Formats: sequence, C-alpha cells, structure tokens
Amino acid sequence: MAEPKYHRVLLKVSGEALAGDKGFGINPSVVKEFVKEIKEIYDLGIEVAVVVGGGNIWRGQVGAEMGMERSQADYMGMLATVMNALALQDTLENLGVPSRVQTSIEMRQIAEPYIRRRAIRHLEKERVVIFAGGTGNPYFTTDTTAALRAVEVDADVILMAKNNVDGVYSADPKLDNTATKFDELTHLEVISKGLSVMDSTASSLSMDNDIPLVVFNINEPGNIKRVVLGEQIGTTVRG
Ligand code: UDP
Repeated sequence: MAEPKYHRVLLKVSGEALAGDKGFGINPSVVKEFVKEIKEIYDLGIEVAVVVGGGNIWRGQVGAEMGMERSQADYMGMLATVMNALALQDTLENLGVPSRVQTSIEMRQIAEPYIRRRAIRHLEKERVVIFAGGTGNPYFTTDTTAALRAVEVDADVILMAKNNVDGVYSADPKLDNTATKFDELTHLEVISKGLSVMDSTASSLSMDNDIPLVVFNINEPGNIKRVVLGEQIGTTVRG
C-alpha cells in the first residue's frame, strides 16, 4: 500500500457532517461512521488534529439576523462546537482511539484549555486532538480556527471535509450546469475569484502561512484515507 503523503493533518469538519439527514443536532450513528474514517488514518500512523464546527446546532449569524447581539450569538456558536467535540471524543474513545479535547474558552471540568505545546505533545503521543470553541473570539469561524490551529501545530495540510460537495467549482453546480470543478488552485485564486472554499480570513491566513488544503466530499466513504494516501480527489489549494 502507498505510504501516507502527510505526517500530521488538521481535519476540519463542519457541524452539519455530524447531523445526518435532518441537518440538525447530533446523530450518533453518523458520528460513528465519520469517526471510523478518522480511525482509518490514525491507524496508518498519521497524527490527527480535528477542528469541529457548530452549524448543526447554532450559528451566530442566524441569531444576529433574528435580533440578537452578534457577539453573544457567536459565543453560543462556540459553545455548540464544544458539544460536537465531546460527541466526537466519546465515539473515538469507544473505538479505542485515545483523544483529548482542548477548548479555546476554559471549561476545565470537561476539557483541557487550549495550550499549543501540550496539543503538539498529545499529537506526538498518538492522541487525536480535537480543538473546540473556535478561536474563542466572536466574528470568526471554525474555518479560520482550522487555518490558525493548523499553522500553530505545524500541520502538513488542512483536510476540508465538505458535506456533499466534492471540491471547489467555478460556480454553484446546483444552480449553474456550466460550473466546472478545479483540481488545483492557489489561495490567491480562491480569494480573487471569490470562490467559496473557506471564508476570506481563513484563506488569507492559509495563504500567508503557505499551508495547503484539500477540499473533498466527506459523504463518500474512504475519502479521508484516499486524500492522505495522495490520491487526486477533490480540489487542492496551495500557496
Ligand atoms: N464562532 C465564533 N468564533 C469562532 C468560531 C466559531 O464566533 O472562532 C461561532 C459563530 O457564531 C459560528 C458558530 O460558532 O456561526 C459555529 O461555527 P461555524 O459556523 O464555523 O461552524 P460550521 O459551519 O463549520 O459547522
């Protein structure tokens, strides 16, 4: 079998990927299938850090649109990511994969606070590290968290697991049948063409720090492993 292409990866999973068909909440069987995929790459000896979103439970922007104060609504979104992180950890441990959750906002009774050097140590000791709570700041997203943590822990790549989207397209393929999929892009192209990969803060951070990302469909079983073994699927975005 091919050798893994990466030694340390940062996997970004949006909250929706844990929700299943209803698109809301946490579906334990869906989480289990997803975690099995993490275990597959963990078993290859790859160091795995995960950033999980919270959109399956709450999005700050939606709260703000309904009249809430934006920062308050965003903190609720950050808390939502912690629920997802605990669900992931529970399932990882059930499958025999040691893990740690680190939160950007302290909640010492349920998780470690985020400490970069400790996170790196966990990775070296073959523990999956789940980063929860986003960046800890309102007005940011978990995509930006993924870029930030990837740079901080010196990950080789960001694996952007997308829900039912198999890469980056020139336009929304659901709305425009002339849309074409890109195999490769640069971060600058993503920003200048306004392509919807990550938000622009996350793209800028990835570009400035020269961290590649691979955008692929998480709903296709085996895709995480395919990516780490270097198979050309999805879209690769580089510096
Ligand atoms: N959030 C935030 N700061 C962060 C990360 C997340 O305020 O650094 C809030 C924001 O309200 C966001 C919510 O948490 O809507 C859930 O995160 P996100 O939308 O990125 O989750 P995903 O779409 O990946 O499920």
